Amino acid sequence: MGPMAPEELIRQAMQARERAYAPYSGFKVGAVVLGGTGRLYEGCNVENASYGASLCAERVALGQAIAAGEEDIQAVAVVADTEGICSPCGICRQVLIEFGRNIDVVMANMRGDYKIVRSEDLMPYAFGPKMLNI
Ligand code: ZN
Repeated sequence: MGPMAPEELIRQAMQARERAYAPYSGFKVGAVVLGGTGRLYEGCNVENASYGASLCAERVALGQAIAAGEEDIQAVAVVADTEGICSPCGICRQVLIEFGRNIDVVMANMRGDYKIVRSEDLMPYAFGPKMLNI
């Protein structure tokens, strides 16, 4: 995570959460990705009337980072108004693993409670790019 404090990532993710489009669940989520350049990329969940087309905040933020040309994702923070910390869903864990097994995943709630886990530890025995041998 380098010089970036987890609290700073969480603060940015909380800002992104304000823009969540969650008319169906009412469950707003914010995320921020720290790229290798040191830049931050925000994401919020984007729901859809066709529920399965909904996007999670983490994947929106990751997409922004990749689209901007980031190649070395350092950290991802995710925050929601949960009792305990908010952890990424299984789909997001799979997408995270695509971009690194050593990404710091900061899982937080609106009270500022948080826990940091490496992406690999969130997804043991993950199917990843190396298995395709390309
Ligand atoms: Zn997700």
